[in-house]
Amino acid sequence: MNHHQPDLDTSPEVSDEIRKTTCYMCACRCGINVHMKDGKVKYIEGNRDHPINKGVLCAKGSAGIMQHYSPARLRAPMKRVGERGEGKFEEISWDEAFDIAAKRLGPIREKAPHKLAFFTGRDQSQSLTSFWAQQFGTPNYAAHGGFCSVNMAAAGIYTMGGAFWEFGVPDWDRTKMFMIFGVAEDHDSNPIKMGLSKLKERGAKIVGVNPIRTGYNAIADEWVGITPGTDGLFVLAMIHVLLKAGKVDLDYLMRYTNAPMLVNMDETSNEFGLLLRDLQGQFMVQDRVTGKPAAFDKKGVKPVFSGEITYQGTKYTPVFQLMTEKYLSDDYAPEAVADRCGISAETIHRLAAELAHVAFEQEITIDQPWTDWKGEKHETMTGRPVSFHAMRGISAHSNGFQTCRAIHLLQIILGSVEVPGGYRFKPPYPKPVEGHPTPHSSTTPGGPLNGPHLGFTRGPEDLALNASGTPVRIDKAFTWENPMSSHGMMHMVISNAHAGDPYKIDTLFMYMANMSWNSSMNSRGVMDMLTDKDENGDYVIPNIIYSDAYSSEMVAFADLILPDTTYLERHDCISLLDRPISEADAVCDSIRWPVVEPDRDVRGFQSALIQLGSKLGLPGFVNEDGSAKYADYADYIVNHERRPGVGPLAGFRNKDGSGKGRGEPNPEQLNKYIENGGFWKDHIPDEALFFKPWNKAYQDWAVERGIFDKPSPYLFSIYVEPMQKFRLAAMGKGELQPPDHLRAQLIEAMDPLPVWWAPYEEQGVDCEEYPLHALTQRPAAMYHSWGSQNAWLRQIHGTNPLYVSGEVWTKHRFNEGDWAYVTSHHGKIKVPVVRMDALNPNTVWTWNAIGKRKGAWALGENAPEATKGFLLNHLIHELLPPKGDGLRWSNSDPITGQAAWYDLRVKVEKAPTEDGVSQPETPAQASPVGQGPKDIAYGGEF
Ligand code: SF4
Repeated sequence: MNHHQPDLDTSPEVSDEIRKTTCYMCACRCGINVHMKDGKVKYIEGNRDHPINKGVLCAKGSAGIMQHYSPARLRAPMKRVGERGEGKFEEISWDEAFDIAAKRLGPIREKAPHKLAFFTGRDQSQSLTSFWAQQFGTPNYAAHGGFCSVNMAAAGIYTMGGAFWEFGVPDWDRTKMFMIFGVAEDHDSNPIKMGLSKLKERGAKIVGVNPIRTGYNAIADEWVGITPGTDGLFVLAMIHVLLKAGKVDLDYLMRYTNAPMLVNMDETSNEFGLLLRDLQGQFMVQDRVTGKPAAFDKKGVKPVFSGEITYQGTKYTPVFQLMTEKYLSDDYAPEAVADRCGISAETIHRLAAELAHVAFEQEITIDQPWTDWKGEKHETMTGRPVSFHAMRGISAHSNGFQTCRAIHLLQIILGSVEVPGGYRFKPPYPKPVEGHPTPHSSTTPGGPLNGPHLGFTRGPEDLALNASGTPVRIDKAFTWENPMSSHGMMHMVISNAHAGDPYKIDTLFMYMANMSWNSSMNSRGVMDMLTDKDENGDYVIPNIIYSDAYSSEMVAFADLILPDTTYLERHDCISLLDRPISEADAVCDSIRWPVVEPDRDVRGFQSALIQLGSKLGLPGFVNEDGSAKYADYADYIVNHERRPGVGPLAGFRNKDGSGKGRGEPNPEQLNKYIENGGFWKDHIPDEALFFKPWNKAYQDWAVERGIFDKPSPYLFSIYVEPMQKFRLAAMGKGELQPPDHLRAQLIEAMDPLPVWWAPYEEQGVDCEEYPLHALTQRPAAMYHSWGSQNAWLRQIHGTNPLYVSGEVWTKHRFNEGDWAYVTSHHGKIKVPVVRMDALNPNTVWTWNAIGKRKGAWALGENAPEATKGFLLNHLIHELLPPKGDGLRWSNSDPITGQAAWYDLRVKVEKAPTEDGVSQPETPAQASPVGQGPKDIAYGGEF
């Protein structure tokens, strides 16, 4: 009998070429190896040499192939032929598209540049888009930060020159106790997973503070199921316990923070609450030896931390004394806040004690000498191995800025920032407020804006207000209502433009921002605003230009579509001028490049923007003779210089590729990046690895690399003095005065020391009528709204039930398969419900951006995303319920304007199950790309 082995090829050739680029399936920017076969993408794996992910790839990253071959991809520029919102378009050429755009935008620029509102989503190219808007001359530019996590970023910068996530990272190799607050799996994916696995290997304790126990919170050693919006109170209670026990790092506070600085305590003074400075502008402390004020950095001065001193007739008190008085108050005792936070007083005491134990009993010392910026030499580097991470669950509340500040204060009093085992910054951070611009908003018809749009206000003089006190910007950022709105307020643009408040605009130009659906509060209302017509039959928002790679919901509302490429077909740079891919040990940046040429008539948005810029003759985009300065984004990336020798990419500068951070443009730069795996990395010298804000070696190295132009050491701001300047104005001091109705809010909110107040929606609705908190998260398998049309990923999350706690489930007698009405002060929806016990008992939640409008994303009309999927956005309004003062206040943080998505209060009731369709049902939009095939399989062609 013959036995024949089957003729199997056990090692088939899976690819004939590997192209290394950067993932864009979420914002983590991992390195990927794209395997090509016969010129097509065959599969994607992680790049093992890459600093961010070291070969790790997540579900989203591997599913990039389905993103690239998605049937929902737009194919050519289009102009609207139906009514807005219908989704009917005619394909046109790029020449015609640019002609239409330029004919509209050219005259605006010459006469009234503010009539262009240019806002972009999560696009990772803000250094280009902001530069373009500045050259156009409109004050109306921002990216998506105002509705995402500006509270986190701004609170971090104002407090310690950097925040979480893209700004820094825990010392994963040394930290022994790690606390996360409000962290879902969408922001910070592979890097945090890799870090958590290191902690697990070493047996470090992970504490997850989150109303919902999914993802990282599910693998935490301890889950604290906090009541939404009370994190600040919880953290301040831990600070109370630590102060009471004397468990604070006084040496750290003395050396590296403004804790000993003297604060003017004379309420009659125009400088009340401001810090005492000498004639050279240097901060002053009370010297322990002489008892007199002295410059804090004068040799031999040892500051006093408490008491009061009279100097030149005025009383002063150290910041530390104000801080201890405030937080030792019984109001912050664990017993006083426990019920409110949904955490027992015993747990608060215990967690504070654990933090103190790890920080002070298990300190780490590294045998590495270093020198501080005053020239003092230190033989070792000593650190406190507790670290923290927080994200949007903290940020997206109306008390988010101060809550983020409270977390930073906790880190700082424990002495655990920029030390071994603690939280560490990633270049170009740390960078204090002084290293950032102030906001600019002064326009000149036909000319550029007077400076960068976004920045950090230092006082009322930096607000974007006209002489009459009206807002300069369409989103009303940098006004008395939200003086520190450092990322703008994209979520207010459409409603303000529709209302003509503060003025009417002509063109709304947006990129990669699904504003008619999951990226807006009050989605139905926004759709109505985008389609509303005036008495002449003209659209109230006259002209909408939109760029997207896919047939999203927002596409249907545009008059002109500029089709973007997928992330595998484009050039991009993840730049030090924006938020790069650096690690705490190294400065790094990276690129994307077209590993596949587009097979459609599409262009990378950044290239299209550059080409439109040169057609409009914008300075910075044309040569002296009017010719185009850059052919496309690749050309711009290589040749644009923001400062002499400093451009979008820091690596391989100079003609020979030797320049690191600084150097003349190198025509071969992109090829060098491609040869190097798509990224560039330069290790920080060992003596500069910690204490970066105060480390001479780091400061000198950062200047060499073009991060700063001169050493910029600074102190952490426990006490944020610029906030007091707004408060002083609200107290009637100074020339620039807020409107009377905002004085009380400014005095409460702009406290220079972190405080907590109840979320505004909670203060404005009847909490007995709306007893539940309602939240959303993005899942680990999806980040952008485009994830739920990805053929692989939608098999993981095709629908999104409302998860309710066991208590709510029992109370309403829900059964498996039931539906519920969910009602807020603004709206009512009908949704499927599922029981989840690992949940704060007074909270319901769902995955965001799974629900889709029929006809969008090339999905079938009966796709589960469009029939069972839903959005909580229908329940949220950009304004709070009327308060009785005749005004409708913004549903946002009063400091930064951050959208308060997670303040939402609702009630649930059992609903009939028979039709099994979620409500509200939005009429279908026509699909300019048709409908995707029923089955998608790789056959060389998708
Ligand atoms: S974590 Fe984000 S960037 Fe990294 S592979 Fe996954 S989707 Fe891509």
